[in-house]
Amino acid sequence: MASYREQGIVLRTYKLGETDRIVHLLTQGRGKVRAVAQGVRRPGSRFGGRLEPYSHVELQLYEGRNLDRITQADLLAPHAAVRAEYATSAAAAVMVEVVDHVAQEGERDNGLFLLLRAGLQALDAGPDDPAIFVDAFLLRLASVVGFHVFTDACAVCRTPGAHVFLSVTAGGVLCPECAPTGTRAVDRAVIEAVALLTSGGEWSALPVLARERPAARARAASYARAFVEHHLDRRFRAYEAVPRP
Ligand SMILES: [Zn+2]
Repeated sequence: MASYREQGIVLRTYKLGETDRIVHLLTQGRGKVRAVAQGVRRPGSRFGGRLEPYSHVELQLYEGRNLDRITQADLLAPHAAVRAEYATSAAAAVMVEVVDHVAQEGERDNGLFLLLRAGLQALDAGPDDPAIFVDAFLLRLASVVGFHVFTDACAVCRTPGAHVFLSVTAGGVLCPECAPTGTRAVDRAVIEAVALLTSGGEWSALPVLARERPAARARAASYARAFVEHHLDRRFRAYEAVPRP
């Protein structure tokens, strides 16, 4: 069996037998990997404590027929603060649930890996309002997997403009010609909030949005959830547990 090295983020773990654990990881080079870590639940295990959910680890593995086998694990970033608080831990649980749903085994997706790492880093800093990072994460993940929210051009005809109609199913804002009759206009502040949640890279502006535009943020958060659940065709169980202001 071939041996390989990978870095990955632990999505979830399951007990196996008396002393082993099955670990689901999002790796940088191979997409989702399911691997067994033997003996890690024994007292004094060399690396059991490094394979906690949300940990970013460097691994040595052997390929297996069904499950690969982890033979070495070193911590790159433990993200221990994420697990220490209920609110950040609940927010991270949504992130890994959605990633576990979309990630494919054996398919490299560096965009997805970097997004999850950034989302967990944002939570690891101990934010007052972790839910805003979930809202942004959901829309950014949708974009990474091919469902980008249009906010500055009509999602149907691509006419640029400060449009005021917003559709989950069509994929973003709609111009007056494309909006179905009877569609109600939304406040531009809501669309600007959706745009901020979606725009890649910048996480530091998000707490400001949450503080200064709470109403627009709440509408944008509802939109983000509806958008992702519609386009990924799935309800995410962990979402309800995230505390919201
Ligand atoms: Zn249009």
